[in-house]
Amino acid sequence: MKLLVIGCGGVATVAIHKCCQNPIFTEICIASRTVSKCEALAEKLASKTNAKLTTAKVDADSIESLTALMKAFQPHTVLNVALPYQDLTIMDACLACGANYVDTANYEAENTDDPTWREIYEKRCQEKGFTAYFDYSWQWAYQDKFKKAGLIALLGTGFDPGVTSVFTAYALKHYFDEIHYIDILDCNGGDHGYPFATNFNPEINLREVSANGSYWENGRWIETKPMEIKREYDFDGVGRKEMYLLHHEEIESLAKNIPNVKRIRFFMTFGQSYLTHMNCLQNVGMLSTTPVEFEGHEIVPIQFLKALLPDPASLGERTVGKTNIGCIFTGIKDGKEKNLSIYNICDHQEAYQETGLQAISYTTGVPAMIGTALIASGIWNGAGVFNVEEFDPDPYMDMLNQYGLPWQVNENPVLVD
Ligand code: NDP
Repeated sequence: MKLLVIGCGGVATVAIHKCCQNPIFTEICIASRTVSKCEALAEKLASKTNAKLTTAKVDADSIESLTALMKAFQPHTVLNVALPYQDLTIMDACLACGANYVDTANYEAENTDDPTWREIYEKRCQEKGFTAYFDYSWQWAYQDKFKKAGLIALLGTGFDPGVTSVFTAYALKHYFDEIHYIDILDCNGGDHGYPFATNFNPEINLREVSANGSYWENGRWIETKPMEIKREYDFDGVGRKEMYLLHHEEIESLAKNIPNVKRIRFFMTFGQSYLTHMNCLQNVGMLSTTPVEFEGHEIVPIQFLKALLPDPASLGERTVGKTNIGCIFTGIKDGKEKNLSIYNICDHQEAYQETGLQAISYTTGVPAMIGTALIASGIWNGAGVFNVEEFDPDPYMDMLNQYGLPWQVNENPVLVD
């Protein structure tokens, strides 16, 4: 099966490592903006796989550039592990060339000052009640196009979104008649030794974390100020950590796809140093996406900041500790209320030894490969735009165990108040 991977950053590097371990992928083209990164990775992996590896330069903001590459390579499936800014152009090119589409993050506009985008965004804020720059409406709007073309678009197969939604589908299938409460807990107990760095693309990460929080309750969104809701939790394998409620994209799809759910929240752990740096950068305007004039050049502050921060793909060697990411469910089985958690613990150094990347790239790249493999093999099939929780979770859960992200079930978890 021919796979085209777009992007060659931290997540892509892990996903491609893992695709090279899966015999379903016989030919893999690694394409990105900086082709030298693709060439270096292909060279590193060539002796470790039976898949034929090729590389290409592509501008994923341009449908023309994408379609020219896809027409030449003729992929069965395209894995988008570039940035959320490119989701729609890549989906359009897949439709034009008859390829399935897979990604790990929903569409986000790069230029949030664009008046056409802004008008739609402000209407959505009013209608839905949350102000995050990203939401599923843009990609769900492709439903009929993918259906008509007989193709699949699989959205959000990273860890969160991705595995956390598969955990939910698995819990519903095997442990509950109804799930009423879902708390998604994302704990990174890793230490990279820098005063401040982000674990994945800094621009996307800081835009997400500095935004208002929100959660879903009784059929509507409740929005909070950034970091307004804080809890402490004792994570297996990591220990006690402070965590904060964030808006997160899988809340939107789970609210749509899990019947009878009453509340969905997402918490992420942050250390005090990270928060102090982020607040300071925000207060001085360094997180702004609006271009400013500086000595005759136009610069976007958050993009300039990205150039100063450590590349997340370079953190692997120095990061020690573990991640613990999973979900706590409360619901009903055979008329009785019950609680359950499902989670994975991933060790930064083990991830680094295998792929050269830290656990955040690892925990995203492995599920990116799994979702892509399930589409490529036809085990997950159909036509249209899907979120991962809409498919049978069992083969995905088996592959998590097989490909380096083993999970655990706790039938007596501590709940979050
Ligand atoms: P990186 O910044 O490390 O990598 C992004 C890659 O995309 C780079 O290789 C970059 O090229 C390439 N790229 C960017 N713009 C273009 C373009 N216009 N044309 C072609 N290639 C382009 O990001 P990460 O690997 O950290 O993240 C990748 C994706 O994974 C993001 O969408 C992120 O949101 C998502 N993610 C999802 C998670 C989940 O759990 N669901 C968790 C973490 C991340 P260049 O090398 O030239 O910069």
